[in-house]
Amino acid sequence: MTGSDYLDSLKRLRRKVYIRGELVEDPQNHPLVRLSTNAVAQTYELEQQPEHEELIFARSHLSGRRINRFTHIHRSTDDLINKVKLQRVLGQRTGTCFQRCVGMDALNALEITTFEMERDLGTPYHQRFNRFLQQVQDENAVCDGAMTDPKGDRGKRPHEQADPDLYLRVVSENREGIIVRGAKCHQTGSLNSHYIIVMPTLAMKEEDRDYAVSFAVEADAPGITYILGRQPSDNRKLEPNPADIGNLYFGGQECLIVFDDLFVPWERVFMCREYHYSGRLVERFAGYHRQSYGGCKAGVGDVLIGAAAALAEYQGVEKASHIKDKLVEMIHLNETLFCCGIACSAQGRATASGTFLIDLLLANVCKLNVTRFPYEIARLAEDIAGGLIATLPSLADLEHPEIGPLMKKYYQGIAGLDTSCRLKMLRLVENLTLGPAAAAYLTESMHGAGSPQAQRVVIARQADLEQKKKLARRLAGIDPF
Ligand code: SF4
Ligand code: FE
Repeated sequence: MTGSDYLDSLKRLRRKVYIRGELVEDPQNHPLVRLSTNAVAQTYELEQQPEHEELIFARSHLSGRRINRFTHIHRSTDDLINKVKLQRVLGQRTGTCFQRCVGMDALNALEITTFEMERDLGTPYHQRFNRFLQQVQDENAVCDGAMTDPKGDRGKRPHEQADPDLYLRVVSENREGIIVRGAKCHQTGSLNSHYIIVMPTLAMKEEDRDYAVSFAVEADAPGITYILGRQPSDNRKLEPNPADIGNLYFGGQECLIVFDDLFVPWERVFMCREYHYSGRLVERFAGYHRQSYGGCKAGVGDVLIGAAAALAEYQGVEKASHIKDKLVEMIHLNETLFCCGIACSAQGRATASGTFLIDLLLANVCKLNVTRFPYEIARLAEDIAGGLIATLPSLADLEHPEIGPLMKKYYQGIAGLDTSCRLKMLRLVENLTLGPAAAAYLTESMHGAGSPQAQRVVIARQADLEQKKKLARRLAGIDPF
């Protein structure tokens, strides 16, 4: 499938989509959505590029056929490492969130968990899941991995909420399937997906069993409403001359998805009230996505570091020692994220189904670093770029007969440089640190795949402090050596 085949396939979906209060027939053609669809299309375009063959293609463990890695189930540490490398390449190419990883991470977490459920309980969840997976692989489909519930009062469990729909739940079931109601928040790439894969948002207890539900549906199943999320400065995408967007080609996307008494046939139900299994599904999905950030955010970081270095040149300060130091600091932070992504992959292990899971401790360390380092990289980029990222007039003014020449004269960098190069680069830095891509590079780094506290909880659980105390006691002479 090429990028344009992919765009055609989305046009066939009949969905209920609201953008700024308007029902929109063809969201892919809407200026607030188009760049995000372009970003996902790059995951198909890479298939046409022989130099990326090893990263973008994998061998299906179901069919033995060559498939797009975004539909693949990881069967080795090499698979896990190639996933992170692929994400870095795509972060570099798009300079934003290319959205397709959430579905890949959901597929892998479900593969492992449905295997255990079928083995332990006898319910044919794994067989059903594999049939769905086969279809996703055959169609080279994009899946949205939907986990985050609205959550209402964070101090209360799902069943204790004043409104029981604040966590997605099973409202009834019959011989054909289940009816679900609720919503999933900030759903990355949902308008660019063919399927929505729903998972519970936390470990459930017996009283919350109706909330322990996982399933997959077509993105245009009746009962689903999409409400597009805003991003900083996204109005610029609506302007006749979109020069001020900064990244002219790509963007990210998040929606609120509402499930209003949606029917799901049993064939697509992968968990229904087995609350004992919800915690491990959440932990695995989150773990895979925390690994993912070691690739994609490092790739976007490469773009920002490149923009800062180019601006330093355009502004004639590239030889200043403090500028060189700042660039090295940015590279150090960025490569640390990548190291974490590679490390948790290299330390991955086979699970009972034969699917490889990352090392959960290291994946959570990866993501906790991601909640900090992109902010520091962005701070240094703003430092190098200068205040113009927040005060620059519109680049459309460059075309104006009177003020265009004034802009060119007074915003000149080093002599001989086309002023517009400097101004475009400033806009790109603005896009990544303050504009639409800051939603993907900064806020998503903080909260995507779980907020920092969620990583601390897993780190505390995985770290085995008792073992560390034992090591210390032995050397201190308290325990025998
Ligand atoms: Fe992929 Fe990164 Fe976007 Fe998550 S934030 S979907 S890992 S690009
Ligand atoms: Fe994300």
